[in-house]
Amino acid sequence: MAKTYKVKEIFYTLQGEGYHNGRAAVFCRFAGCNLWSGLEKDRATAICKFCDTDFWGTDGVLGGKYEATELASTINGLFKGDSNKFVVCTGGEPALQLDKALIDALHSYGFEIAIETNGTIPLAADIDWVCVSPKADTEILVKSGDELKLVYPQMENVPDQFESLQFKHYYLQPLDDINKLMNVAACVDYCKENPKWKLSMQMHKEAGIP
Ligand code: SF4
Repeated sequence: MAKTYKVKEIFYTLQGEGYHNGRAAVFCRFAGCNLWSGLEKDRATAICKFCDTDFWGTDGVLGGKYEATELASTINGLFKGDSNKFVVCTGGEPALQLDKALIDALHSYGFEIAIETNGTIPLAADIDWVCVSPKADTEILVKSGDELKLVYPQMENVPDQFESLQFKHYYLQPLDDINKLMNVAACVDYCKENPKWKLSMQMHKEAGIP
């Protein structure tokens, strides 16, 4: 029987953060994560405690169980135009599911494939854009890629500890809590003092883009 992928939701939008900020993209949010069940009752005991994403189940827009060709076709059907095709595989933790069959199916439609991963699971080959967002108290196994995006400030994850990894771009993203303005200022100061790092604002939240 062909493998199926569990997908929470699929939608067409603009990438709202990091290097590809502002670029049209289909987001494919895979269900499930290795650092939290996604259920509130488990949050206190989760490895990753501050998740603000609903990735549990398959009940979102276009959510469901798909085979590779079916999923790639659905993603392709949402993208407008034939050039600069871009799909962002996110989650949850997309590395739990994104594999060669789906990568090949998406490439057959001409997509550039990005992944937004917590970096704790080895990746399939031939992903075009690797963005790692490290979480506290985890071991990073994906030590190289295109973009490292760190929520700042965090007690347990300080920027210094990631500078020996091999990424092309290093971003600080202000922690989105009640101290957000202070966190933005802290990111700005850090980037000015440490120009290896760039500021990533969550444009989609400011602009009200889903
Ligand atoms: S790793 Fe990402 S998806 Fe998983 S619980 Fe943490 S923030 Fe949420």
